[in-house]
Amino acid sequence: MTKLYLLLGGNLGDKKKIFSEARINLHNLVGEITAQSAVYETEPWGFESTDLFWNQVLEIVTKLSPEEVLLKTQQTELELGRIRKSNQYDSRIIDIDILFFGEEIVELPDLIVPHPRIQERRFALIPLNEIAPNLRHPVFQKTITQLLAECNDQLRVEKVK
Ligand code: ADP
Ligand code: MG
Repeated sequence: MTKLYLLLGGNLGDKKKIFSEARINLHNLVGEITAQSAVYETEPWGFESTDLFWNQVLEIVTKLSPEEVLLKTQQTELELGRIRKSNQYDSRIIDIDILFFGEEIVELPDLIVPHPRIQERRFALIPLNEIAPNLRHPVFQKTITQLLAECNDQLRVEKVK
C-alpha cells in the first residue's frame, strides 16, 4: 500500500458537483481517501481567464502502481468530461495530477512523479501544506512547508467558504 497525493483542478461548470463526483470515482477506482484539503479558489497559472479555478489535494492509500493510478485518473477525467455541455478549449472541467506517489521517483514518457512543477505553484503547495506539511520531496529533500516558503508564485489562492 502506498500513500499518494492527487491535485484536482478545474475552472468550468458546476465545480462543486464535479469535484464531488471526482472524489467518489477516485475512491472507487484508486483507493480510500484518507485526507483531503479544503477547496481553494485560485487564479489561472500560465494563461488568462476570468474563470477562477478550484483546487483540492487528496491523500489516497492505494495498492495500484503509479501507471495504474494514471490510467484511473485519466479515466475519471474522461468520465466527468463527458457530462460537460460545452466544448471549450483551454480551460477544463477537471484535471487530475499525481503530485507524489510515496517517496517514489518515476520518470516515464507519460508520467513524471513527483509532478515537476509542484514547487512553482502555490495552488498545489498551499493545499498540500494543509494536510501534509512535513511530507518530504524526494528529489529536493525539502518539506512542503520549506518549498512553500521558497516559492515565488504570487497568484491568489483562497479557501472557498
Ligand atoms: P496538464 O496537467 O499539464 O495541464 P494534461 O492534464 O492534459 O495537462 O496532462 C498532460 C499529460 O501529462 C498526460 O497525458 C500525462 O501522461 C502527463 N503526465 C506526466 N506526469 C504526470 C503526473 N504526475 N500527473 C498527471 N499527468 C502527468
Ligand atoms: Mg493534468
